[in-house]
Amino acid sequence: MHKKHNFGAGPCILPPSVMEQAARAVINWRGMGLSILEVSHRSPEFEDVVLKTQLLVRELLAVPDHYSILFLQGGASTQFAMVAMNFLDTGKKAAYLDTGYFAQKAIKEARLFGEVDVFASSGDKDYTYIPVDFNYDKQVAYLHCTSNNTIEGTEMFDFPKGGAPLICDMSSDIFSREINITDFDLIYAGAQKNMGPAGMTLVIAKNEFINQAKKEIPSMMDYQIFRDNMSMYNTPPVFSIYVAMLNLLWLKDQGGVSGIEQKNIAKAKLLYAEIDRNPLFHGTADVEHRSRMNVTFLAVNKEVEAGFLKFAADQGIVGIKGYRTVGGFRASLYNALPLSSVEILVDAMATFEKEYSGKIALELE
Ligand SMILES: *Cc1c(COP(=O)(O)O)cnc(C)c1O
Repeated sequence: MHKKHNFGAGPCILPPSVMEQAARAVINWRGMGLSILEVSHRSPEFEDVVLKTQLLVRELLAVPDHYSILFLQGGASTQFAMVAMNFLDTGKKAAYLDTGYFAQKAIKEARLFGEVDVFASSGDKDYTYIPVDFNYDKQVAYLHCTSNNTIEGTEMFDFPKGGAPLICDMSSDIFSREINITDFDLIYAGAQKNMGPAGMTLVIAKNEFINQAKKEIPSMMDYQIFRDNMSMYNTPPVFSIYVAMLNLLWLKDQGGVSGIEQKNIAKAKLLYAEIDRNPLFHGTADVEHRSRMNVTFLAVNKEVEAGFLKFAADQGIVGIKGYRTVGGFRASLYNALPLSSVEILVDAMATFEKEYSGKIALELE
C-alpha cells in the first residue's frame, strides 16, 4: 500500500501497520460497534489506552517512578509559554540556549513571563552548530535547551549537567535515541515529529519539579492539574493518544529505542556519506553536530536544486524541500522511515549527478 517515500519534517511518516490499525479503529474500535472517534474519554476502554500509552513511554525511555508522564494539547509551541508560566519566578531569571528557530520561539514566549538570559547562541554562524563552551548563572529558575533543531539540522549529544533544573524541547528526536531521563527536570515534545499524529504533546516531568510550579495560573496551563487528573482534566486528544500508543507498540517490536537508534544511525550515515561524496551537494551543519533526524543540505547552484527536486519527485520522494530560511534540502529520517527509502534517495542523488555531469560535458563540447 505504501506509496511515497516521505521525508517530510512533520507531521511525520508512521508505519503502515499503525495506519491500518488506526483506520480500522475509526470504523469499529475493539468490536464495540463504536468508532475510536466517538468513544467516551471516561470509558474504561479509553482509560486503558491512556494507562498503556504512559506505560509504554515509561518503559521505552526508562522513565523512573518519580517522573510523571502527561499528554497535553497545543503542541510544543504552547509549551514554550507553559514552562515559563509555571517556573519563571519574578525573582529569578531563566537561562536559554539559542540553537535556532524553535529555541528563539521559546525565548520569545518566556520573555512574556520574566527575565530571560540567552547565555549562548549559534546565531553567529547561522545555527550550523551547537555551542559547547559556555557559562551560565546556576541560580536561574531553569535552563532551557532544544535537543534537535528540526530546521537547521543540528542535534545536541551532550547536555549541561549538575546545574539548574534542565528543561528540554525534544519534539523532533524523542524516541529516536536513548537518553538519560534523570538528566532532565522536564521534557516536552509535540507528538507529530516522531511519536504519532499531531494533536498531542508529551510532557515528562520530575514530580518534585512540578510541585514547585506557581499556583496562580490558568488550569489548562497547570502541569499539576494535568498530573492529578491523569491527563484528563478536560477532553484529551483521544485519537492522537490512541495512534501514539499503536506507534509505541510498533517501536517496542523494533527492539525499542536502542534498536531504532541503531537503525537511525545507519540511515543518517548512509545519507551523509552521499552528501559528502556527491560534488553537487554539501551539508550545512557542523559534522559533529549533524542531526540524525533532519538532514539539511544544499545544492551547488539553483539549477541543480530545482532539477533534483523534480527528479526526486519523479521517483516518489517527497518532503525534501528545505525550510524557507535555510533553503536547499532537508530529509527527515524519523523512526518509521525505512532504510530502503534512504537508499532510494541516495541512488537518486547519484543518478542525478551522473546525468547532470553528462549534460554539462555535452554543453562544453
Ligand atoms: C515542530 C517543533 C516545534 C513546534 O511544534 P508544534 O507542536 O507545531 O507546536 C517546537 N520545537 C521543535 C524542536 C520542533 O521541531
